[in-house]
Amino acid sequence: MWGERYDFLVIGSGLAGLFAALTLREHGRVALITKRALEDSNSYFAQGGMAAAVGRGDSPALHRQDTLAAGAGLCDEPAVAILVEEGPQRIKDLMALGVEFDQIDGQIHLAREAAHSTNRILHVDGDATGRGVCARLIEEVKKSPQIDVYENHFVVDLIVTDGRCWGALALHKGELRAFWAPATILAAGGLGQVFAETSNPSIATGDGVALAFRAGAQLMDMEFVQFHPTVLYADGSRFLISETVRGEGAVLRNHRGEAFMERYHPLGDLAPRDVVARAIWTEMEQGARPHVYLDATSIEDPRGRFPTIYSRCLELGLKMERDWLPVGPGAHYAMGGVYTDHEGRTTLPGLLACGEAACTGVHGANRLASNSLLEALVFGWRAAEAATKTGPVKTPRPAIPSPPAAFDRGQLQRLSWHCVGLERSGESLHKALLELEKLSRKCRGMDVESLETANMALVVSLMAKAALLREESRGAHYRVDFPKSDPSWRRHIILQRGQDPALRPVDKE
Ligand SMILES: Cc1cc2nc3c(=O)[nH]c(=O)nc-3n(C[C@H](O)[C@H](O)[C@H](O)COP(=O)(O)OP(=O)(O)OC[C@H]3O[C@@H](n4cnc5c(N)ncnc54)[C@H](O)[C@@H]3O)c2cc1C
Repeated sequence: MWGERYDFLVIGSGLAGLFAALTLREHGRVALITKRALEDSNSYFAQGGMAAAVGRGDSPALHRQDTLAAGAGLCDEPAVAILVEEGPQRIKDLMALGVEFDQIDGQIHLAREAAHSTNRILHVDGDATGRGVCARLIEEVKKSPQIDVYENHFVVDLIVTDGRCWGALALHKGELRAFWAPATILAAGGLGQVFAETSNPSIATGDGVALAFRAGAQLMDMEFVQFHPTVLYADGSRFLISETVRGEGAVLRNHRGEAFMERYHPLGDLAPRDVVARAIWTEMEQGARPHVYLDATSIEDPRGRFPTIYSRCLELGLKMERDWLPVGPGAHYAMGGVYTDHEGRTTLPGLLACGEAACTGVHGANRLASNSLLEALVFGWRAAEAATKTGPVKTPRPAIPSPPAAFDRGQLQRLSWHCVGLERSGESLHKALLELEKLSRKCRGMDVESLETANMALVVSLMAKAALLREESRGAHYRVDFPKSDPSWRRHIILQRGQDPALRPVDKE
């Protein structure tokens, strides 16, 4: 088997992986592995921007307060303190790497987003922040002789012996390749694709969480998935319509043309994200319609204000100043993931995690808008620093994985959307777990699509198990049979292979 030793292995080329690899290049040879092209990531599609307390009148204390309020009692407070205090320095690091945030009159322009008490969102090229930041970092990675990039390498499993991670096994053009390193940073992103409706691109199949779980690392908060209310539902194509469009005056309407949000919340169209998403869901169900509409016709110069969204709508034949946009909710962001300490270390020695695949506890039960890119930076940097402190490498022979169970991906996505989605109940979650067993078939081969789908099935089962245990509603987790928050549930649910689920008090000891 082809194999190569490195000082550091980074899995994933989103913001967390790119930034970790760049931080590590001073310290040794880095392999950056990614399953498609470097640009294929959730990070590349991020629109609104990055939250950081850099504005006049803002402070880490205010940012902390807003983050804790969104997290609905489940945030890890020390982790939040790290996020908001180190955030401004990491923004400076990005600028030193050549990232140019939008400015007005020589000052960084800071936008406002829902649940932020002040303007604190840095952005690039209007609504193309992810592309702007990632493109610059990708250029830098390509120029770095210390970083070897491996595109189209799908990580199948981590290499684990003697209770430690020694690297990863990747599939490339049908061939298995071993990458050994004393420190492996898992930055494999989110899992939106496990649901039939999502804002996430096709790479977001939850591989990182599945890899870590199989390797024996602990997962935390898997029941918490944020659903975005306004994903453009057009002809099989899905695209996020940022909340800022409603912030600028766009109104949600049902199939009868009625603006309905006032009936659900005093803040109307600007109600919290989960409230709006569930209201839309109710309107769709009651009207038996596949979507509702976003009426943005009152916005002046939508092309100038939202260039990316405008041009995507236009490609689909929709003019924002003329047409109501068909929208509905979609899975957007996973608050839970691979449990890490404040240095990005997982419970499996040799394995670190950062970005959306990780659960640092900063988001608690619900993420404050634009905190995830910041988290990828702050904890990507911390994970890289911790990775420099691991010991020498060993090169154990990796176990060759057997073909996984096969699933019909569409059936799986529909099952999770209906049974583990915006509204869950004991009945729907039991049904999801039962049906998952029935859907499983013998696999024909070891191709990337089958491996991804098997990872997705594992992720759905873990989410359903955690959601079933949590008999309350909190943040993004809504149980119709337990619609209220229960103070005794201020605990995290920990899942680990071969162990019963465990409950952990909110603050890490
Ligand atoms: C449409 C959209 C808009 C958003 N807007 C914002 C915003 O404005 N502000 C904000 O803060 N957040 C936003 N988010 C969320 C944010 O983009 C993500 O949470 C963040 O980018 C995650 O970064 P990451 O590096 O952890 O993962 P990602 O950027 O998803 O990168 C994961 C990487 O891992 C690779 N990978 C996955 N599995 C494997 C495998 N098995 N083998 C090898 N490689 C693998 C992927 O190919 C990818 O390169 C948005 C998300 C979406 C989808």
